[in-house]
Amino acid sequence: MGTYDTEAIVLRSIRYSEADAVLALSTRARGRVSAIAKGARRTSSRLGGRLQPGVRALVTVHEGRGDLGTIRSAAVLDAHAGLWVAGHRLQSAGCVLETVMKVMPEGEPSEEAWNLLVRALGLLARAPAPPGPARLDPLVLGVQAKLLVVSGLLPVLTACARCGAGPPLPAFSAAAGGTVCAACGAGADPVEPAALAAFAGLVGRPLAEAPEAVPPPAAAGVERLVGLVLREHLGVRLRSAAPL
Ligand SMILES: [Zn+2]
Repeated sequence: MGTYDTEAIVLRSIRYSEADAVLALSTRARGRVSAIAKGARRTSSRLGGRLQPGVRALVTVHEGRGDLGTIRSAAVLDAHAGLWVAGHRLQSAGCVLETVMKVMPEGEPSEEAWNLLVRALGLLARAPAPPGPARLDPLVLGVQAKLLVVSGLLPVLTACARCGAGPPLPAFSAAAGGTVCAACGAGADPVEPAALAAFAGLVGRPLAEAPEAVPPPAAAGVERLVGLVLREHLGVRLRSAAPL
């Protein structure tokens, strides 16, 4: 028990009682944590007005008994106001926040994941409209691909994950750990070379270059690769993504 200060980004805010909200936070110091914001649902609340999803703030959290801390104070560092002036930005940010919520474990700080989230929201707050729906926004897919790397879940993409053979690699098996050759591909998902190239581009390039890494026709294939890996290794499904 104690009190700590940390930079935090609000991932989600859910109603807890008439007046209070429970926030899921990505924090620099403690990783993902949940904390109660007392009175945040009152219209007069200064805390509630500040702590909307996507906002980066310096927060003071008091650790009580159990898992749920209490937010004592919050000072906004970056409201990412640009997210709220364009619907596509807010939707893309929602996909990013959901991914961090589901992929990053509770209570395990990761400087890489923190920096990625900060960079993503900064880029999204001034992003032009993506060529397709928010879930296929190259910035969203870029965050997802890079979070797989941070989480140690990057699949093999250039050889058969079962026998080591080189291309052609017409299928993907998250259970096997990546692409598979035709001989090993029974039961695996077909995968387009363009999706593999786009995925590799997202992993290898800075997030800001994600739009150049993903030609629009390859975006759905990248989304599917991410979804297959998350289902196989973390047992999670992104609500914002298309069904597998
Ligand atoms: Zn093989």
